[in-house]
Amino acid sequence: MEQIILVDQSERFVFKPMLYELLSGEVDEWEIAPRFLDLLANTSVQFFKDRVKVLHPSDNWGMNVSKESRCGGTVHLESGLQIQYDWLVLALGAEAKLDVVPGATEFAIPFSTLEDARKVKDKLTTLERKTFGKDVQISVAVVGCGYSGVELAATLAERLQNRGIVRAINVETMICPNAPPANREAALKPRWFLKKHCSMDVRFFHQGKKLSELESSDTLTGVDENGTEVAPAIEKYILELQPAERGMQSAIIEADLVLWTVGTKPPLPQLEPSDAPFVIPLNARGQAETDETLRVKGHPRIFALGDSSALRDSSGKILPATAQVVAFQQADFTGWNLWAAINGRPLLPFRFQNLGEMMTLGRNDAVISPSFVDGLTLEGPVGHTARKIAYLIRLPTDEHRLKVGISWLTKSSIDLVSSLQSTLYKKEWHNLAILYIQQLNTRSSTAIFIDNLFPNINEEM
Ligand SMILES: Cc1cc2nc3c(=O)[nH]c(=O)nc-3n(C[C@H](O)[C@H](O)[C@H](O)COP(=O)(O)OP(=O)(O)OC[C@H]3O[C@@H](n4cnc5c(N)ncnc54)[C@H](O)[C@@H]3O)c2cc1C
Repeated sequence: MEQIILVDQSERFVFKPMLYELLSGEVDEWEIAPRFLDLLANTSVQFFKDRVKVLHPSDNWGMNVSKESRCGGTVHLESGLQIQYDWLVLALGAEAKLDVVPGATEFAIPFSTLEDARKVKDKLTTLERKTFGKDVQISVAVVGCGYSGVELAATLAERLQNRGIVRAINVETMICPNAPPANREAALKPRWFLKKHCSMDVRFFHQGKKLSELESSDTLTGVDENGTEVAPAIEKYILELQPAERGMQSAIIEADLVLWTVGTKPPLPQLEPSDAPFVIPLNARGQAETDETLRVKGHPRIFALGDSSALRDSSGKILPATAQVVAFQQADFTGWNLWAAINGRPLLPFRFQNLGEMMTLGRNDAVISPSFVDGLTLEGPVGHTARKIAYLIRLPTDEHRLKVGISWLTKSSIDLVSSLQSTLYKKEWHNLAILYIQQLNTRSSTAIFIDNLFPNINEEM
């Protein structure tokens, strides 16, 4: 009898492109991180929450593996369990790579997993609570200005508004180097700081391996000069930045929170057996090398996809490690090719279809450049809605999509009603104010009066 086993170290599937929305409060955890057990409830797939520790493939004697040979190898789990498999699919993703700069591993928080997002959210909430009502700005440094860094910085800047400053630090002078120019331009528009009143400072520095340091220090002791306890201490971090280009000055930045979005490393090399050489072919980054049917080279019983695999396009370039390439498009091909391999049918070569690029720039703000309409870029609330619909379609299982769709529709209806209410409320007060001023017949003070009452009246109405 056929048996499908899914092993994951986490009990939840995580839809990473929407991790930012956990910080803005736009989505709930269950929506983008449903439990595997719930997703698989109506299937015959068995789920094991466990960590793969070692891989022992036994199909590495070339492509002439006998069809009768049942066992393709063994997977050793942290719990001590060993699973003998006929066919293996590797989709282990990639972890954040922090050991690039001294101190980063100890003091910076990556933004790659659900646990990272929870940690950042908790840290922000604590900082917001500690600084509430005080004339102190929360300072956040986001290291890296690729897609992740820019989306994270925009989300945080919007959340903190005038209570904080977000500094985005990049080694190159160009942000999102792989993004289409329209997305890059949209991300650089000053609307973040103007419309959302946030303080955003993008600096371009080179972080030299030896020269950059990140240290922690307590600036507030938690005890005043009389020995009485004061507000709890806020830990500060120091970032030493080296200039990226000649003529720039090195700098020291102090931050309450340092977030790391630079670099990833696949966990595959850690699965090497201690008593035998690792037979899975890996590239320099630690990704499994596959042929175009997504089979690991030299291993007819193993398929690999996603961030932990390396597939080259026709020009020899490794395809980008993104959800739109790996998680979605390769998954369909892997499923088909696995069935074909089991049933002795021809396998299909993977063909990547570029669907375009999407980027969140905060609540109700996103930019998307679909590849199928040349030159089209959707921005602002329209881009935001289009991005959400595109991601809703990509969430797993019909049942989960339906639940999330209803939840998002309900939330946007509530948002719409409350924004209508607040607009009407403001209009009423505005009219009242004008009436009052007319009665007083003090036309010269009108502008000042209205300005004081409604500083953002023109922007918001
Ligand atoms: C913040 C963020 C935003 C992103 N935004 C976008 C975007 O907008 N568009 C886009 O296309 N891509 C985006 N990406 C990239 C995209 O999420 C990844 O390319 C995609 O998730 C890769 O899928 P995967 O299945 O290879 O790996 P993952 O989704 O990382 O899944 C790997 C799974 O393997 C499990 N695992 C790892 N090691 C072990 C082990 N030893 N034992 C057991 N289980 C293990 C993990 O728990 C995890 O569940 C984003 C990534 C991040 C971090």
